Amino acid sequence: MKAARMKTPRRPVPKKPSNPCVKDPVGVYCRVRPLSRPDQECCIEVIDETTVQIHPPEGYRVFRNGEYRETQYSFKEVFGTLVVQKQLFDVVAKPLVEDLIRGKNGLLFTYGVTGSGKTHTMTGSPGDGGLLPRCLDMIFNSIGPFQAKRFVFKLDDKNGVDVQCEVDALLERQKRDAMPIPKTPSGKRQIDPEFADMINVQDHCKVEDVDEDNVYSVFVSYIEIYNNYIYDLLEEAPFEPIKPKPPQSKILREDQNHNMYVTGCTEVEVKSTEEAFEVFWRGQKKRRIANTQLNRESSRSHSVFIIKLAQAPLDADGDNVLQDKEQITLSQLSLVDLAGSERTNRTKAEGNRLREAGNINQSLMTLRTCIEILRENQMYGTNKMVPYRDSKLTHLFKNYFDGEGKVRMIVCVNPKAEDYEESLQVMRFAEMTQEVEVARPADRPICGLTPGRRFRNQTEEQAVSELLLQNFPPLPSCELLDINDDQTLPKVIEVLEQRHKLRQMLSEEIAKTVHAFKTVLQEFDSSVASKENYIQGKLSEKEKTIAGQKMELERLEKKIKTLEYKIHILEKTATIYEEDKRNLQQELESKSQQLQRQASDKRRMEARLQGMVTETSVKWEKECERRVAAKQLEMQNKLWVKDEKLKQLKAIVTEPKHEKPERPSRLRDREKPVQRAVSPPPAPPPSNPITQVPNSQRLVSNPRVHRRSNSCSNISVASCVMEWEQKTPSHKPASGTSNARNRQQEPEQNRDYNSSNRRRGMCWTGVTELPRHRDELEIEEDRCHRVSAAPSAHPVRLRHRRSRSAGERWVDHKPPSNVPTETVMQPQVPHAITVAAASEKALAKCDKYMLTHQELASDGEIETKLIKGDVFKTRGGGQAVQFTEIETLKQESPTGRKRRSSPSNRDQPEDAADSEWTDVETRCSVAVEMRAGSALGPGYQHHAQPK
Ligand code: ADP
Ligand code: MG
Repeated sequence: MKAARMKTPRRPVPKKPSNPCVKDPVGVYCRVRPLSRPDQECCIEVIDETTVQIHPPEGYRVFRNGEYRETQYSFKEVFGTLVVQKQLFDVVAKPLVEDLIRGKNGLLFTYGVTGSGKTHTMTGSPGDGGLLPRCLDMIFNSIGPFQAKRFVFKLDDKNGVDVQCEVDALLERQKRDAMPIPKTPSGKRQIDPEFADMINVQDHCKVEDVDEDNVYSVFVSYIEIYNNYIYDLLEEAPFEPIKPKPPQSKILREDQNHNMYVTGCTEVEVKSTEEAFEVFWRGQKKRRIANTQLNRESSRSHSVFIIKLAQAPLDADGDNVLQDKEQITLSQLSLVDLAGSERTNRTKAEGNRLREAGNINQSLMTLRTCIEILRENQMYGTNKMVPYRDSKLTHLFKNYFDGEGKVRMIVCVNPKAEDYEESLQVMRFAEMTQEVEVARPADRPICGLTPGRRFRNQTEEQAVSELLLQNFPPLPSCELLDINDDQTLPKVIEVLEQRHKLRQMLSEEIAKTVHAFKTVLQEFDSSVASKENYIQGKLSEKEKTIAGQKMELERLEKKIKTLEYKIHILEKTATIYEEDKRNLQQELESKSQQLQRQASDKRRMEARLQGMVTETSVKWEKECERRVAAKQLEMQNKLWVKDEKLKQLKAIVTEPKHEKPERPSRLRDREKPVQRAVSPPPAPPPSNPITQVPNSQRLVSNPRVHRRSNSCSNISVASCVMEWEQKTPSHKPASGTSNARNRQQEPEQNRDYNSSNRRRGMCWTGVTELPRHRDELEIEEDRCHRVSAAPSAHPVRLRHRRSRSAGERWVDHKPPSNVPTETVMQPQVPHAITVAAASEKALAKCDKYMLTHQELASDGEIETKLIKGDVFKTRGGGQAVQFTEIETLKQESPTGRKRRSSPSNRDQPEDAADSEWTDVETRCSVAVEMRAGSALGPGYQHHAQPK
C-alpha cells in the first residue's frame, strides 16, 4: 500500500501588528538527532535547510485505520543528523554571545521529548562540547585581555552591579583568600574527566568588534526548577554525609528595572572557560547527587545556566575602570535545558513521579499558553494578559518575551517512530512559537570618552623607541674590496664607537630612569602598604563597630521581646480591669436603681404617713372635743352638786350655835382660832414670845400672800366636802363605814401616807368632830411638807422637845445669797442668833434651827421656805439638826388667783353664793392654819384682815 504523499498546506503568514519599534520573531531551530540504531524506524525527514517532514510510522498507520498523512514544519533553520555542534553553535548561539558582549540579553532553550538530544545540544557529550561550553569559550576568547581584576565588579543581591577601584578589589581578594574554603563534596575543584574534553574547543571563536576601552567580568549561576520550585545548584551547603539536608528553594523577585531574578542565588565570578565550566560541572554534579538522593529524574527538571557579563569603560587615562555605576552595563545569556516535553502517560509515572511529571508538564503547558497568548495578542491586536506568573519557568523569563532580549529555541527531535506523536506536538508548538515576535533590544549607549584609550600609551612608547633607533648613526658599508682599504674599517670603528657611546648614554639614561622608576615604585609600594595598613586598621575598626552594633542589635532585640511580653501582660491586665470596670458600673447602676426605688418608696410612705397623721390628728381633735364636752358636762354636774352641798354647808355654818349645845368644850376651844381669824386679832399672850410677831410681819391672809400649808388645808376641806357629801344624807357619825369608803376614793399615796383614819376621825366624824389636839393638826401639816422637803427625815420625836415656854433659842440661818422679798410679812424670830453660814458655835448655844431658803416656783414667783429643825447634841460632842418642818412663803398676782374648786363656774349667776363660799373656805383654811401655827410654836399669827 502506498499512501498518497500530501504536503501540509502552509499556514498563512500572520499579519504583523504595526509596531513602531523593530521586532524579531523568536528564532526557532530544529535539530534532528541520529537514530540510536540504524534499524530503528524513522518518522522524520529533513526536507531542506528550513523544513522537516514528519510522517506516521508503520504501526501507527495500521493502528489508525490506514490513515497516512505527512506533515511538514518550517523553522528558521533545520539541522540534520549530520550537523555538528560547531555548526549549530555558529548559527544559533554565536549571535547571542555577540549580543551579550554588546550588552544585550539573550535566551536560548532546548525543547523536546526526553532523549531527543536537548542535553546533548546544550551541554554536549564527552569530546563534543555543546552550546554552553562553546559560548563560554567564545566569551573568554573575546574579552580575555580586557577582563577586569576579580572583585572590581560586584554583583549586589538586588540583581544590580557595582564597581570599585583596583585597590579595594585587591583587598577584598586578599580577604577572600584568607577565608577557609568550606568543605564540600566538590571541594577538590577538579573537573571530571568525563567533561574535561567538552571544553576543549579549538575553534578560537571570538567576537571581532569587542570594545577594547571597556573592562569585563563574567559571573555565572546555575539553577534548577523542579516541581515548580527553584533550587540553587551552586549553593555552598556544608557537607553532611550521614543525613544531607534537602536543598532550600529560592524565590523570584523583580528588580527596579522590572527584570526577574532569583533572590540569594550564588553568582560566581569566573575568569576563564575552564573555571566557568568547572562551576557548571559542580552544579551539574550537585544536581545528579540530589536526583539520586531524592529519587528524582533529571529529565523532569529544567536547568538554567545564566552567564552575566558586566562591563564598564576605562577612565580617560585608559588605566583604571571608570568609577561610575551608571556606566556599567550588565547583560545576561540564559541557557535553558528544558525538561522532557512528553505527556505523563508516556513515562508511566506513578505516585510522586506522576505529580512531578504533572508539574513539569504544567510548566511547559504554561510556557505554551504564554506563547500562544503572546502570539494571539501580536497577531490580532488583542490585549490578553499573558499568564507568566503561573509557573516559575515563565515568570523567570517573562522579560525576554517582553522585549528585554533575543529569544531562541532549539527544538530537538528524535526521528524514531516511537516518538512520533510527541514529536508532532513538539513540532506544532515550535512552529507556533516562531510566530511570536519580541522587540529587538536597543543598543547600549556609547560612552562619551575618546575611544582607543587602552592602547594610546602603548603606541606612544613604541614611537619613542623607533625614534631612538633612527637617531643611531647608520652603519657604513662593511664590505672590504681591497686589502689596502684602510678607510672602511676605521669608519666602521668610528661609527661603532659612536654607537657604543650613544648606547652607553642610553644605558645610563635607562639606568637612571629605571632607578627613578624603582624609587617611584618603591614609594608607591610603601604608600600602597601604608594605605593597606591604614585600610586594614580601618577595616578592623569597622569590624569592631559592626560587632558592637550586632551586640547592640541583639540587646535591642531582647529588649523588644521583653517589651512585647510586657505589652502582652499589660494588655491582659487592661482587659481584666475593663471587665472589672464594666462589672462595677453594672453594680453601680443596679444600686442606683435600688436607691431610686427606695427613695420613691420612702416618698410614698411619707405621703401615706402624712395622710395617716392628718387623719389621726383630726380623729383625736374630734375625740378631745368630745371628751372636753363630756368633762364640761360632768364638771357642771359636779359644780351643781357642790353648790348644793355648799348651800347645805352654809346652812350648817350659819345655823344658830345654840342648835348644838352639846358640842364638847374642846371643840369650842378649837373654834376660837376660827373666830380669831375672822375677827381682828387680840394682843398675843405674853407667855408665848414666839407668837409675838410685829404687825408688819404677820402673815396676812390676803389673796396674794398665803401659807403653803393652805393647800393642805384645802385638801382637807375638799376631803371633808367629799366625805361630807357622802355622809350628808344621814348626818350620822358612822366613822367606821365612812372611813372605809373614803379610803377607797383617796389616792393611794394619801392612803399610805397620812393617818387619814385618825384625822378624819378627828375632823370629820361629823362637823362637830374637828381636830381636837394640836398634834393632830401638826401631823396633818407635816405630811404635806415631808413629801416635798424631807421625805426621808426621821419622824419628829416630839416628846424630846423642850418646853416652848422655857424659852427656846433659835439659830436663824440666812444665807447671804437670799433675795429680799419686800413682802409685808417677814419671818422674825426673837432672840435668835442670825448667822449667814451654819456655825457649830451658834448651834451649841441653841436648841432650834431655821434655814431660810429661796427658790423659783413653777409660776415664776420666788418661793421662800423656812426649814425648821431641832438641834441635838451628838455622842461625839458635836451638834446635829433634825429637820422637822417647812414653812413656805409665796407671792401671787391677784389676777392669777383662781377658784380652785371649779374655775369654769366663774360665770355662774350665783355671785352671792360664790362669795360666801370663798369666804367660808378662806375662813376654814385660816382656822386650820391658825390652829396649826399656834400649835407649832415658831409659826406665825395669821390675821385675816378683811378688806
Ligand atoms: P535529552 O536531554 O533530550 O533527554 P540527551 O541529550 O540526553 O537527550 O540524548 C540522549 C542520548 O542521545 C545521549 O546519549 C546522547 O549522546 C545522544 N544524542 C543525542 N543527540 C545526539 C546527536 N545529535 N548526535 C549524537 N548523539 C546524540
Ligand atoms: Mg536531558
